[in-house]
Amino acid sequence: MIWMTIPKRYYRYGIAAEKDLFDGIRDEDSVYGFVLPAQLIVDQRMSLSPWLRERTFFIDPMTHVWFSDLCDLRASDGKTFKRSYEKLRQEYDSPFSDLSPPGGKLDAASILSSPGKLEHFIASAERVVSFQSTYVQDRIDEEIVEYNRILAEEGYGIRDLNAMAQDERTKPDRLVLPYVYFTSTQTSEYELNKRIWDWFANKDRSPVPYCAMIATSEPSSDWDAIVRDLKGKVTQVIVWFSQINEQSSGADQLIRVRKACSSLAKNDFHVHLHSGGAFAMGLGFDGVESVSGGATYGERRPMTLVEGGPVPQRYFIPQLLRVFPLAEATFAFERLGLDCNNRCCEGLDSDVNAFVERFFPGKKDTSWGPTWYTKLHYALRFAQKMDEIWKDGKSTGLSRLTEMMHAAESAGLHEDYWQHLNTWIEAYSDR
Ligand SMILES: [Zn+2]
Repeated sequence: MIWMTIPKRYYRYGIAAEKDLFDGIRDEDSVYGFVLPAQLIVDQRMSLSPWLRERTFFIDPMTHVWFSDLCDLRASDGKTFKRSYEKLRQEYDSPFSDLSPPGGKLDAASILSSPGKLEHFIASAERVVSFQSTYVQDRIDEEIVEYNRILAEEGYGIRDLNAMAQDERTKPDRLVLPYVYFTSTQTSEYELNKRIWDWFANKDRSPVPYCAMIATSEPSSDWDAIVRDLKGKVTQVIVWFSQINEQSSGADQLIRVRKACSSLAKNDFHVHLHSGGAFAMGLGFDGVESVSGGATYGERRPMTLVEGGPVPQRYFIPQLLRVFPLAEATFAFERLGLDCNNRCCEGLDSDVNAFVERFFPGKKDTSWGPTWYTKLHYALRFAQKMDEIWKDGKSTGLSRLTEMMHAAESAGLHEDYWQHLNTWIEAYSDR
């Protein structure tokens, strides 16, 4: 089987200010869709609902955070949950709402060992899924009250009207089943995931496809077992390797990422890789159809990250396929020159002062200030660069990566700047 396309790019929605940024980028090649963490949308429902109407998106239900001691959901007073998680907890209802703050966590083994608890958990799993398909507050919700009143007077049934309103809703492109982070297929956490898949497989299919999320530390799991457990239950899978850092992982780890994705794709699953940067975008040849990440920052999403929010400035150096803080970005810019013809970099030429002023205002790399230009540059140039590298197929793409690496070396950049390209080429080349 040969897959040829470059994966579609989804951005992980982080802060409200990003709406303006993405409003300015309407081409699907740069930004195909969005992943919305559930605790952010529950907090920004009113402003996000109209914005999402014209967009492709899905919701990350963030259910893993209620199981892991590493995810700190406490507000600053230490006695209550963070505001957005408190709202989400109420939305999901029990057993999530039964947790007592500040440190309460759910335990997969204890849920599995009690039929009552399991039933209780599955009931809330249904809430997690229905939340995704109904959370967008369309105007139709207000209008239907009025329609119902008028049409009921004319003798129409309310049930038909509600069904019509459901069809018109803004919906995500998939419904992500609740998931629990697991370290191996031999754990209670994995078993709980499996029970969730089994449960939903036996339910009537909604018009929006169900999607399983495989959230695990490393891609060394037993993929034959996972394929077997998923087969016939879902057609879509999101894979999330929280410990994989594209810049520092070894070739052996990256090869396991490839193998994991291709073993799912070979079994006819639609594969989405969550939390991926430029390396992940080269996995279209392994069957990855789409990839999600943040704009400029946090391409990788560690399991412990529970909040969105502002991030430090980082500039994407297209010739090196990675983002850098102030000092390294400036040095690489001086050595390699400007490689961007978009409006983000207009007027910079090779003027390093203008570059710093635009992308690192106040000459700070920890500035939490206007990151609009850095994100715009990332979203536009990243997509173009992926296309430039991979559009003529894999072997041409690998030659281009090799040329990029040699160019960086010849420009006098230390290997720390480009060593990841060497590792990637090795990982991509493995058969
Ligand atoms: Zn630019």
